[in-house]
Amino acid sequence: MPESDNVERVIIIGSGPAGWTAAIYAARANLEPLVFAGRPKTVPTTILPGGQLMLTTEVENYPGFPDGVTGPKMMAYFEQQAVRFGTRIVTDKGLTPDVSNADDGHSYTYHDCKRVDLSKKPFLVVGEDDKEYFAHSLIIATGATANWLGIENELRLAMSGGGVSACAVCDGALPIFRDKKLAVVGGGDSAVEEATYLTKFASTVYMIHRRDQLRASKIMAQRALENPKIEMLWNKTVVDVFGENMITGARLEDTKTGEQSTLELGGLFMAIGHTPATTFLEGQLELDDKKYVKLKDTYRSTTSVDGVFAAGDVSDSVYRQAVTAAGMGCKAAIDAERWLGEQGIE
Ligand code: NAP
Repeated sequence: MPESDNVERVIIIGSGPAGWTAAIYAARANLEPLVFAGRPKTVPTTILPGGQLMLTTEVENYPGFPDGVTGPKMMAYFEQQAVRFGTRIVTDKGLTPDVSNADDGHSYTYHDCKRVDLSKKPFLVVGEDDKEYFAHSLIIATGATANWLGIENELRLAMSGGGVSACAVCDGALPIFRDKKLAVVGGGDSAVEEATYLTKFASTVYMIHRRDQLRASKIMAQRALENPKIEMLWNKTVVDVFGENMITGARLEDTKTGEQSTLELGGLFMAIGHTPATTFLEGQLELDDKKYVKLKDTYRSTTSVDGVFAAGDVSDSVYRQAVTAAGMGCKAAIDAERWLGEQGIE
């Protein structure tokens, strides 16, 4: 059992818009939150510091940035604001109150959270170096990562703003995609929704699907099939993406015949699902059938464990926007603050 002085009032796990917003609110409530911001990975399949916005170039739909802002810069601003009010971050150089530079990043490495034990109070949070931290309350904001095909050039062009993206709603309206031939990979509701959205800007939108039937709900599928700007490419997978700085096309393979073909493209959007970063929560907290954290009440941030709150894409498979995640982070911090007050924890 830790000394009561060593128990944090709130630990926040995750550092996307939800995590940093929760930190801003918790810090301003004098809770001195401790953040596990996650470690940068070469392949974005686990928790990324800054979250999915680190894979976005221009963000044009976040209110307050009339000229747009890059995803990484926006996340650095969020972090600076959180640190300004007393947020501490777990790093390889200890708990740092340093402010990262919006343009240059920082000189230390953030730590991941490896494991939690929510069966006892205070909660145990174990860092990647096996160091143990204790907290009266936790805010889970680890997000969900977009699934990628895992082919060469895909992430290089995605991370450099080269016309490959996993979010048409975030990026589709950018000038680089105007009047271009665009493609969406996938056959689910997201793929249909994204393809339909892209028809506002594109000359043609191809839907590249690995089968000959859409997974999307009937009504949405019908909408795509009847849209004159959407052309279905059935039984096809993308096996390569071309382009130095900007995508110029893709190589497709027929899943039935194995035949390969080339498709000229000005943009490629992945819509092949998301994976919530909840592996470390399995058996600890109630998750839904798709492994998202189940909220006890959809209007709140409460979870199946009293004192554990969730915010952002880790508990939202529907909206997945920076602004909705930030709003959820705010709710989680307010819920945590009120809950701590109810427990008599100052
Ligand atoms: P999803 O339903 O899991 O669909 C993923 C699609 O990607 C499937 O068509 C799948 O093909 C394809 N796929 C997966 N891995 C692939 C790979 N490696 N290569 C090629 N294709 C691959 O995901 P989602 O569309 O993001 O939807 C997630 C949930 O949100 C669903 O429950 C959906 O109904 C819901 N949603 C609802 C709305 C709405 O109602 N407005 C909008 C968006 C999402 P197969 O079909 O062959 O498996």
